[in-house]
Amino acid sequence: MKEKMVKKDCGKGVVFLDRDGVINRDSPDYIRSVSDFHFIPGSAEAIGKLFAAGLDVILITNQSVINRGWVTEEKLSDIFQHLCQGVALFGGKIKDIFYCPHRPDEGCSCRKPGPGLFFQAEKKHGMDLSESIMVGDSAKDMQAAEAAGVGRKILVKTGNGQKDMAFLKKNGPLPDYLAEDLADAVDRILSGSVFSCKKY
Ligand SMILES: [Mg+2]
Repeated sequence: MKEKMVKKDCGKGVVFLDRDGVINRDSPDYIRSVSDFHFIPGSAEAIGKLFAAGLDVILITNQSVINRGWVTEEKLSDIFQHLCQGVALFGGKIKDIFYCPHRPDEGCSCRKPGPGLFFQAEKKHGMDLSESIMVGDSAKDMQAAEAAGVGRKILVKTGNGQKDMAFLKKNGPLPDYLAEDLADAVDRILSGSVFSCKKY
């Protein structure tokens, strides 16, 4: 395992981000349109900082709203475009977005906690998953990253983070770092200490 991750020297790793509850406020009614999408303060700026540091950012997100028939692919694409525009205001860029459209009952391998989306990303971009970092707000994010062999996992307290940390303490896998929010997670990543810190 790499000792630490340093700006401009990220090896072949990338930073994977979940969307809802990490970048934008989650909603029990799901995010169905651009008007439902609200950035968590500091998150778009944080992605800008990752980009400025030379790190690739890839979104990995469950979007069962597609196969539930609640959101069209076109509407989802509008929401992603809105997200990317918000990030661009801070000079940031999302390298790619991988989403799972399936409902939980479809039994696919790409819906987190399955690792499939990470493997899709690896196949397309050839990053080293063991040198990569996943930032998520749910147990499913941590489980999926663990199953895919992602090197480091950060849980943010926003979204489901607080609730799911209690679950993870009992059941694992534990995150390497418990962050206040994405801005805090990015500060930790850019300080190089995520790869050198002790396991949570
Ligand atoms: Mg989430």
